[in-house]
Amino acid sequence: MYYNISFDIAAILVLIVLAVGMNTVLYTDTTGHKLVRRYMYSVIFCAVTDVITAYTICYGYLIPDTLNLILNSIYQYSSVLCVAVAMRTILNYYPSAGKTSVMINRLLLYLLVAFITVNMFTGWMFEFTNGEYVHGSLYMIAYALSLAVVFHMLYVVLINRGDRPGIMSRIIILFLFLPTVFTVIQMIVGDILLIAFGEAFSALIMLFALETPDYRKLMKTMNELEIAREEANVANRAKSDFLASMSHEIRTPINGILGMNTMILKDSDDWQITQYAENIRAAGNSLLSIINDILDLSKIESGRMELVPDDYELFSVMNDCYQINRIRAKDKNLELIFENDPDMPAVYFGDVVRIRQIMNNLLSNGIKYTAKGTVRLSVAFGDEDSGSHEDDGEYGTLVISVSDTGIGIKEDDLNNLFERFTRLEENKNKHIEGTGLGLHITQQLVYMMNGRIEVKSEYGVGSVFTVSIPQKVGDRRPMGEFAVRLKEQVNVVKNESDTIKAPGKTVLIVDDVKMNIFVLEGLLRDTQMRIDSATSGQEAVNMSKETKYDIIFMDQQMPQMDGTEAFHRIRDDKDNINHDTPVVVLTADAIVGARAGYLKEGFAEYLSKPVEQKELLNVVEELLS
Ligand code: ADP
Repeated sequence: MYYNISFDIAAILVLIVLAVGMNTVLYTDTTGHKLVRRYMYSVIFCAVTDVITAYTICYGYLIPDTLNLILNSIYQYSSVLCVAVAMRTILNYYPSAGKTSVMINRLLLYLLVAFITVNMFTGWMFEFTNGEYVHGSLYMIAYALSLAVVFHMLYVVLINRGDRPGIMSRIIILFLFLPTVFTVIQMIVGDILLIAFGEAFSALIMLFALETPDYRKLMKTMNELEIAREEANVANRAKSDFLASMSHEIRTPINGILGMNTMILKDSDDWQITQYAENIRAAGNSLLSIINDILDLSKIESGRMELVPDDYELFSVMNDCYQINRIRAKDKNLELIFENDPDMPAVYFGDVVRIRQIMNNLLSNGIKYTAKGTVRLSVAFGDEDSGSHEDDGEYGTLVISVSDTGIGIKEDDLNNLFERFTRLEENKNKHIEGTGLGLHITQQLVYMMNGRIEVKSEYGVGSVFTVSIPQKVGDRRPMGEFAVRLKEQVNVVKNESDTIKAPGKTVLIVDDVKMNIFVLEGLLRDTQMRIDSATSGQEAVNMSKETKYDIIFMDQQMPQMDGTEAFHRIRDDKDNINHDTPVVVLTADAIVGARAGYLKEGFAEYLSKPVEQKELLNVVEELLS
């Protein structure tokens, strides 16, 4: 007989590739998968021994008969191993198969092993004489035993077919007979390795038909998952929208309350009432800041937080933060120090609202979590470029650092610090107001600006939060020392008279909420200006055709015609006597309240509600002068 060694080696390689491929496909570790894998390995082992024995039979005269006998016996054993694993695999799919079935199967396999072993001494199955392979007188027993194994298993499958869907049992029967069919073909054709291919083929069928879930069902489940994911996204968006609109809705009445309260503070001479009103202001402001945080969070989570970059003066940002936090620090007897590198540039290009928010969050935390000592803000600018930029402006890194001598943070807690709604040592800090959102929002804002935030802290000693944000320089001229400029600023303010008077001037206030109009009227009363009011965009447009105003205060959020639309109706109508009147936009939505956006729209100024009297008067003064 002639054998083609290259073909055999190639065939075994194909089997190995198949096994490796299967191994990759087997993504779960079910018993079925393990068994199919084991089956494939035993098939390869069997194929290798098959090839070896084919050669030793072919060139039998070159090696001793005993060695040939041993090698062939090993091949027979490996065949039994294959059958054993195959049967074990099938039994795995029929848990109802009783102990007797398992016992009979084992018994038949043991008999086969025993027969092969006995054959080595008796030659009943086969033997070698002078290098020739000779069938023994009882070789049919081996075939009979093999067939008995197959038919017994067929019986087991049929009896227990209730365990599996019909199609599966049919596939298993195919699996059962395929190697047998290939064995017969191999015997007739004489080519070796056909059995191995038959077995590998049936292993593939097992794997894909029995171990891989129904493709259509899988697709259906995947579709369902996709729909569920979409629904979850919609629900999440709805949650964010709800949060955003709720916060906005809540802000409107709070603004009313705080506005009315400002009037009480302004008009009341009664010490007791002023104290009550102060309390309302403090509680109202903290409520407002919680709502702002929630609004920010929902914007960040729904991906709708946008940065609005514009030129800003760092001194004025620091000054805003100083003015707000100075009072808080003073109440707690803390020293508040603001320092900066006097040579750093004065003007930058970035989102000033967010930079201020970051600075404020860190400062207010520093003050909140410090009982005595100092809270220090240090600002510097590193000229070294941070990344590539499309334009060739001058870039660098703005470094804002806030240190305190407060309670500090335990090393283990540093990891949770930026988690949303996470507050550390809640029991100990019960008396300190907070939601656990501030640092999360700060971190997200810093990331949006491609910056970094770092914390160093020693428990019981204090903490340092350092934020580094890439910023473009707007004006290279040195900013000067904050403390020195602050003193100059105070002198200017002190020289200013507290209120302005503008009798003879006329303003129009447009707001759909009457109370807001009332608050603004109250704040402007001392100016002695004439004040008209409109409660809708349309009414404002109509009135603007009749009377010439010096300033129009326009609420942005109004039903039907919003502030921007009303503004354009007035501005774009060249026949309107107010088409060049300065219009100040008012908005309760401090987030959307990107000043730059409104100024670009053409508004003369932007005021966020609740309107501060000082700010309002500054705007009036500026626009009237
Ligand atoms: P909030 O202050 O509203 O609780 P934050 O997100 O701002 O929420 O801070 C989360 C937690 O981190 C705080 O509850 C506090 O335990 C801790 N923390 C923040 N800043 C400091 C600080 N400067 N010193 C000590 N602990 C701080």
